[in-house]
Amino acid sequence: MDLASVYQRIEFLKRELNEHNHRYYVLNEPSISDFEYDRLMQELISLEKDYPQFADSLSPTQRIGDDRNQEFVQREHNLSMYSLGNTYNRDEVIEFDKRLQKLIQGPIEYACELKYDGAAISLTYEHGRLIRALTRGDGTRGDDVTANLKTIRSIPLTIPVESCPALFEIRGEIILLRDTFNALNEERLSEGEPPFANPRNAAAGTLKMQNSSLVAKRKLDCFLYSLAGEALPGATHSENLSWARRVGFKVPPYLEVFQDIEKVLAFIDKWKDARKKLPFDTDGIVIKVNSLEQQNQAGFTAKSPRWAIAYKYPPDQAETRLVSVDFQVGRTGAITPVANLEPVLLAGTTVKRASLHNADQIQILDLHIGDFVLIEKGGEIIPKIIGVNLAKRDLFATPVIFITTCPECGTALTRDQGEAKHFCPNEDLCPPQIKGKIEHFISRKAMNIDSAGIETVGQLYEAGLLKTIADLYDLTYDQLINQNRFANKSVSNLIAAIQESKKIRFERVLFALGIRYVGETVAKKLARTLGSIDAIMLASREQLISVDEIGERIADSLISFFAMEKNREVIRRLMEHGVQMSQVIEENVKQIQPLSGKTVVISGTFSRYSRDELKEFVEKFGGKNVSSVSSKTSFILAGENMGPEKLKKANDLAIPLMGEDEFINLLSL
Ligand code: NAD
Repeated sequence: MDLASVYQRIEFLKRELNEHNHRYYVLNEPSISDFEYDRLMQELISLEKDYPQFADSLSPTQRIGDDRNQEFVQREHNLSMYSLGNTYNRDEVIEFDKRLQKLIQGPIEYACELKYDGAAISLTYEHGRLIRALTRGDGTRGDDVTANLKTIRSIPLTIPVESCPALFEIRGEIILLRDTFNALNEERLSEGEPPFANPRNAAAGTLKMQNSSLVAKRKLDCFLYSLAGEALPGATHSENLSWARRVGFKVPPYLEVFQDIEKVLAFIDKWKDARKKLPFDTDGIVIKVNSLEQQNQAGFTAKSPRWAIAYKYPPDQAETRLVSVDFQVGRTGAITPVANLEPVLLAGTTVKRASLHNADQIQILDLHIGDFVLIEKGGEIIPKIIGVNLAKRDLFATPVIFITTCPECGTALTRDQGEAKHFCPNEDLCPPQIKGKIEHFISRKAMNIDSAGIETVGQLYEAGLLKTIADLYDLTYDQLINQNRFANKSVSNLIAAIQESKKIRFERVLFALGIRYVGETVAKKLARTLGSIDAIMLASREQLISVDEIGERIADSLISFFAMEKNREVIRRLMEHGVQMSQVIEENVKQIQPLSGKTVVISGTFSRYSRDELKEFVEKFGGKNVSSVSSKTSFILAGENMGPEKLKKANDLAIPLMGEDEFINLLSL
């Protein structure tokens, strides 16, 4: 390569890596796998090494990926947080050991741990109390996510102060267990929201949510893996982690200490497949010098410690032939290309299909029908095509062309500027969109008309009986009994379920309408705040945005939905049939103000919220705080070590006590 081409390639790689960093750390929507990212990074590192004249202190090789966004207060880390050097190559682990032998005096002991795939966090404890939780940020300043972290049950808010350093930080990874992640994605899919690509993105995205009570529902977990600060309890990393486990931190039990690098390699081999059986994702092994004194001797580069390295397991890959590409139409009209493959075994399962996401991806891959393609299964749900074996391409292979018209209804597709997806705009007449909307409407979490399944919807649609969700309520016994597969009992069941659905609460009806971005949670917020469909339809954009959790994207989606006469017509018909279009008043009051009319005394110490926070909750949810117990007290929010006098008075007056957990549940915090 001539110098100009080298320079251009370096600039291209820097741009690409910066863009991927933003997608990964800030948006939590990576578009390439970690392996591909690491390959690009490795290429840039080598070019910058070979051509030092192009080195740049702002290059992504010199800076850690920054996760900060504008929505959180940012604070300085007492001690910088670093990234880790990484390798996919066992020989480089041996090289790492050789480098350290030159830098460090005396024999080296290595602590080996699993590398948990989540988002890094640093917790600061002062006099045994959690005072701050910061994300890694740019390494020196991170986002303050303390309120969100306090909702994670496994993080102790206080630890016994005896023998605890006055001030220390403990660092770890915020993760989601795979089962929790799968349940979350199912919920998102049912709400028309795109699923998270993997547990790591879901965990990192959740950590940055603005509403702590929603964070609490996502059930994050936190694995701790290092202690930082002065006057730490032990002289080695492993001793410090044992101490952390003893005082109540969730320190995973997989750490092992070895005296020689061969044993480290054996540890890598041991976990290669065993890690897949763990209930959470790992993407490698972290190898650290165990002695803190020796860590000091080795020091840091601008980006990572010299005394540690991550060995990453290469992703499972396989080569197979691309047979054809299907274009699927979703209920919102979004077009998703899906590759049909010759079946191939990958990481224990037979793969026949792979996601192609959108037109750009097909173009980047320059896919041809009959190509031998490399598929990879990272953390993603379905495998991805990551490359083409050009050497095996047939001379006459034809390129995959992205469709310009809808495969179902023939309408010309549209693609908005900045949108990755193509859409079929014919939402009134395009069969999968109509059927998809009705299927969503009747689903269990929406109107729960469970005796009608997807097949029934298809059949009634083909018969011309169902074109909109409102048509469900016009179905008659005579119409249904004349359909194939319907008998007396199934017709009665279906009609009864449709009638029963008229009792479904308004917030679920709102969700069932299938308005883009209005999932279960958003529908609840809107219904509980604005109270009725009329109020929502009349609300201005500003009023909608002022509702907790509703942003511009959701407000715009609501406005354009209700601007369409045909949607208003469907709502009018549903209303005429008696479907709930406003929040029932008693329920409204109960749900927004679960403590209205209640007088609450708070006593004792609490583990999840401070007393002031609890007092704020009492007021926010309609209750009144008082300091002394009387016959008018509705209940006592009782923590540990409640005052003995208050306890006695409560007993005498038969005032009920409520624990912190029960209180949190009552308010759905
Ligand atoms: P990293 O994730 O490779 O390693 C550092 C991190 O490992 C630490 O910050 C810590 O959070 C985590 N970790 C987990 N278990 C640990 C343990 N036991 N001990 C110590 N640390 C542990 O580095 P990074 O700087 O966070 O991210 C770079 C990596 O992220 C890349 O190598 C790539 O794999 C991925 N990435 C991917 C994309 C993409 O578009 N796919 C973009 C940016 C980064």
